[in-house]
Formats: sequence, C-alpha cells, structure tokens
Amino acid sequence: MKKPLIVQKFGGTSVGSIERIHTVAKHIINAKNDGNQVVVVVSAMSGETNRLMDLAKQVDSVPTARELDVLLSAGEQVSMALLAMTLNKLGYPARSLTGAQAGIVTDNVHNDATIKQIDTQLIDELLAEDHIVVVAGFQGINEKGDITTLGRGGSDTSAVTLAGALQADECQIFTDVDGIYTCDPRVVANAKKLEVIDFPSMEEMARKGAKVLHLPSVQYAWQHNVPLRVLSTFDTNPGSLVKGEECQDAVCGIALQRDMRLISIEKESLESLKKQCLMLGIHLWNVIEHAEWVDVVLKEDAYSKLELVFKDKIRNSGSVSLLTAVGLHVEGLVEQSCALLSEVAIDVIHVSINPQSLTLVVEPESVDKAANVLHEHYITSAKAIDCLEKHAFWG
Ligand code: ADP
Ligand code: ASP
Ligand code: MG
Repeated sequence: MKKPLIVQKFGGTSVGSIERIHTVAKHIINAKNDGNQVVVVVSAMSGETNRLMDLAKQVDSVPTARELDVLLSAGEQVSMALLAMTLNKLGYPARSLTGAQAGIVTDNVHNDATIKQIDTQLIDELLAEDHIVVVAGFQGINEKGDITTLGRGGSDTSAVTLAGALQADECQIFTDVDGIYTCDPRVVANAKKLEVIDFPSMEEMARKGAKVLHLPSVQYAWQHNVPLRVLSTFDTNPGSLVKGEECQDAVCGIALQRDMRLISIEKESLESLKKQCLMLGIHLWNVIEHAEWVDVVLKEDAYSKLELVFKDKIRNSGSVSLLTAVGLHVEGLVEQSCALLSEVAIDVIHVSINPQSLTLVVEPESVDKAANVLHEHYITSAKAIDCLEKHAFWG
C-alpha cells in the first residue's frame, strides 16, 4: 500500500540556528516514524535574505534582476544542506535539492516568478528509495536555465505547488506563530486564532498583506484542492486549516501592509505611468483620481524602480500603510471606521472599497493603533455581542 505523503515547509525563524534545525528535524522524523513519506521545503535562515539584499543594494540601488536571483537563492541552499546533514547524522537518509534539481520550472519574471510546472521524477525516485527530500524554497529555473525567485515569502508557494504536483495528503506550513489569526498577533495582542479559515477570506487577507501565507500559495491550494495547514514549529498545536469556499458575513480579519508609498501625479501623466508600470511589472494598489491630479499607492520597492524613470512627473510622495478589513458587506463600514479612527486622532488619507474588503490608507506610525481600534470594534466586541445574543436566545 502507498504510504501517505506530507509536504512540510519551515520558514526562516524555524531554521534560524543549528539548534532550531534540530527542532525541525524532530518534526520531520516524527512524521516519518508515523509512516509518512516526507518532502520538506525550507526558507533561508532568518535575516539571511535581507542580508543578501542589503549587500546587493550596496552595489546598485536597483540591482540586475537576474543576478539578484542568483544571490538570493543562495540563502535557501544553506538551510537545505544544513537540514539534510542533520537528518543524515540522526540516521534518517535525506537528500537536499535546489529548485532546479527538484524540477521546479518558472516563467522568466526574475524576482517575482510564477511556477509553470514541476517535473517530480527525481523526487519520486528519492522517495521510492525511502529518502527524506529537502527542497530549497523560493527558487526555480526558467526555460533558459537561469535561476529565478518567486517573490518575498515565496517558499510557501514552493511547498504548496510541490504538494499539488506530488498529490500530497497535506501541506503543512510550519512558522513562528501557531496558526492564522484574525490579525497579526504581533500587532493585535488579543487577535483570535482561527481553527479554520475559508479560501476566499484567506486569499483576501494574503492579498492585503497578511504575510503568514504567500498569496500565490493560497491561490494554488484553492485551485488544486491542496489541504493546507499553518502551524508552529515550536509547539504541538494543530494550527489552522485553510478550507472551504463559503466566506464570512461580518469582518473576519484585519490585514496590514507596511512599506507602501503614495505618490501624486498630474492627471495627464497617468497613462504613461501605467505603461511604465506594466513594463516594469509594477502593481498599482490604488489609483484615486482627483479633479486635477491622481494619487497612486504602490510598494516602496516598486517606487524606487519607478522613481528613476518617472522622477519629473511626481508632484508629491510620502510613506503610508494600508489597513484592510476583510469580510463580506464591509462597504457599509466606511463612515463608522473613519469615525472610530478619528476618535483616537488618526487621519484616514484614503478609503477604497472592494467586493470583499475595505482598505484604509493611513500614516505608517498610526497603523498598529488603527488595527487595534478596528479589531476591537469589528471582531472582539462583535464576537462578544454575538456570544451574548446566543446565550440570551438559548437561556
Ligand atoms: P516564515 O518565515 O515562517 O515564512 P513569516 O514571517 O513569513 O514566517 O510569516 C509569519 C508571520 O506572519 C508571523 O510571525 C506574524 O507576525 C505574521 N502575520 C501577519 N498576519 C498574520 C495573521 N493574520 N495570522 C498569523 N500571523 C500573521
Ligand atoms: N527567504 C525568502 C524571503 O525571505 C523566501 C521565504 O522566506 O519564503 O522572502
Ligand atoms: Mg513567510
């Protein structure tokens, strides 16, 4: 009988030291001893990708995209080798594979590539020989044979796509929190852990900045029915399961996106800005048209690329953060949200309404406080009222 197959992914903090790599090895060995085949995906050790990025920026503020991928992919190679060595030393045969060796083929978009297909032949052979396979996350190879990377946080997507290609029984994303919360628990201390979150809500949370899962990983798991769980490397909680298509009626979560920039340009420059962004692969988060000018919100790192060629057209620019309430029917909450924030002297610079979310643009220094205010009102108190009503109804 075929053994069950699990893909386990360990993020940067989880492989951040030799001691932590031992903890990771224990999880893998437990899964193996339970009778599973195990494929592991690892990120670079914590801080390593930032360190490499910083080195590149010391050479060039906008480094050559191809070379940046060669550099950044080195981070994951360090952790995959250290983990495979650890497993071998503990008596569990393991082999580490780069993205290319693992057959992960992407498109040609350096720094933000999309996985096109995975040729699992080598992984299948290694599993058949009873090896644990350790794959470098975040990287692949394009059709020219060049190394590509999948965008920051992309190891989640490596893991989920491998799980899909291998028809794994579950994809487990091990990280430094014990599941998916109603807001980043490092920002909102009383955020609630969700045992289950539906795919549409998780997709919107990830799109709007909840970095606990990389957006394409959620989209792939949804499209390909990959059972997806987020859990902690450092305890034994079952974590959170992403499952189902039915989204919540009320606000189910709040996402934060930092490192954003708001720029103002003349109205007649909008079309050429859009063309430029298309050419450079830059996503515009918000475009707000005023009578004579247009405000555009984009990521800080995208702005640095754009600034080089578009400098003269930019009237004004400043750092901002985005705060998004995710849930159905949030369009009715605009006035109330602005009033709640105004009570604590937080200005809302812009508001944008999407079918499943409401985004507020605020100053970077007020985003944490704003998240706490909205979470308290729309989630903590709303749940308390909900609970009281149920008790009253049932006596
Ligand atoms: P890893 O290195 O394991 O991939 P990440 O830093 O990418 O970890 O993602 C985990 C982090 O995501 C957590 O430490 C937490 O601060 C943040 N986070 C943001 N939003 C949420 C959320 N809604 N639920 C849980 N964690 C969240
Ligand atoms: N090491 C990469 C990053 O820091 C990929 C990942 O961790 O998922 O973004
Ligand atoms: Mg991550």
